[in-house]
Amino acid sequence: MKITFYGAAQTTTGSMHLVEVNGKRILLDCGLFQGHRKEAFEKNRNLPFDSKTIDSVVLSHAHIDHSGNLPQLVRQGFRGRVYARQSTTDLCDVMLRDSCFLQKRDLEYVNKKRKRDGKRLFEPLYEESDVNALMQLFTPVHLHESREIAPGVTLTFFNAGHILGSALVQLDIRSNSGRNHKLIFTGDLGQPNQPILRHYEYPQGADILIVESTYADRLHPSADDIESRLADYLKYIDRRNSKLIVPAFSVGRTQQIIYYLNKLLKKGGIPSGLKVYIDSPLSRKATGIYAKHREVYNDEALNMLASGQDPLSFPNLTFVGTPEESMALNETPGPMVIIAASGMCEGGRVLHHLKHAASCEDNIILICGFQAENTLGRRIVERRETIKILGEEVPLKAKVEVINALSAHADKAGLTDWISNVKGDVKYAFAVHGEIEKVSAMADILKEQGILNVAAPEPGQVFEIG
Ligand SMILES: [Zn+2]
Ligand SMILES: [Zn+2]
Repeated sequence: MKITFYGAAQTTTGSMHLVEVNGKRILLDCGLFQGHRKEAFEKNRNLPFDSKTIDSVVLSHAHIDHSGNLPQLVRQGFRGRVYARQSTTDLCDVMLRDSCFLQKRDLEYVNKKRKRDGKRLFEPLYEESDVNALMQLFTPVHLHESREIAPGVTLTFFNAGHILGSALVQLDIRSNSGRNHKLIFTGDLGQPNQPILRHYEYPQGADILIVESTYADRLHPSADDIESRLADYLKYIDRRNSKLIVPAFSVGRTQQIIYYLNKLLKKGGIPSGLKVYIDSPLSRKATGIYAKHREVYNDEALNMLASGQDPLSFPNLTFVGTPEESMALNETPGPMVIIAASGMCEGGRVLHHLKHAASCEDNIILICGFQAENTLGRRIVERRETIKILGEEVPLKAKVEVINALSAHADKAGLTDWISNVKGDVKYAFAVHGEIEKVSAMADILKEQGILNVAAPEPGQVFEIG
């Protein structure tokens, strides 16, 4: 058999690995490269193979860096099956349409400039019709169900504990050459003891591992004080009749925050009458999908349900509808909490909330996710004196608070725990999904576990496995 690492190879985004066995070509993930616009656009448009030659895709989870180029695969002629859990399929349905919408908006801006300069206009990577065609190809596979996806290749999903629907991918392979293999691909491995979701599992007996490396070189801070810190911020804005603005990713982070607020409410930690608004259409849809798939909940979330409390809803929680209703919040006096996308403040409704709230020292901006360089979110974390929002320089006088413990990825301790518990007789291990220093750190962890053949593949690197 042969494995080629096309994406998330010495980089974080664009997860895509090709397994070739028994004359079949199986793609693990088909993610979108994210980064500098021009480079990402070229990479995403020019798939490194003829899409028609791919027999099937196994999708680990719905995040765009894992699923976001599937519509392009279909646009270029792929007609095989896409194997994923039902919850992942449901999330892809809304996230890929959102991706179309974001691309369109982004291109409108770019093309306006190109038109002025007399340059050729760009086409979107894919359109909603491609997403429609793709959704027909999704084939649900339940957790722990064994499904033959090619002659001699059986797929089983295990919990990855990362976001709703996230799965560890296990392929049991009987190759025509008579060799048997068990390949396990982590997709993204979750942080243990996250709210809502079940803990990742430890499938046994792998001889080939493909492991993500996002936080292989660091330990997360303790999550112990998240609730008490949130309670302090709520008291603060309640006393001042001000606003707590939380930029948050629509899938995963928003639901985590709703869950923590819900727990606080139960303990009497939310001042009565304090309103909480979720202001992002994608967040509303994603929360609906989380609410539908209760089979993924952990014991704490299930106990909450059993006691009559919905983990993702509470009386003072409102999902904001139209853009006009969103804008109206600007003029509505506090106290209130507004949770809005995008998570790094690069677009979305959070921008106009920040624009209105940043200059008042009574407000709090709470950052609770990784903020990449050159994003507005990063400039807020750096507490710049002024920040440019929607074309306007705004003084940053609001309090800026940062909670770093909400990561959806396992850190060095989690990754080491997982590997030390799944290793069978691992012959080959590959570190993916991280910049060079992260995959190197992951390679060190793998070697410390006694695995002899460890690699951090370069983009396009091919490995023949006997
Ligand atoms: Zn992910
Ligand atoms: Zn990822």
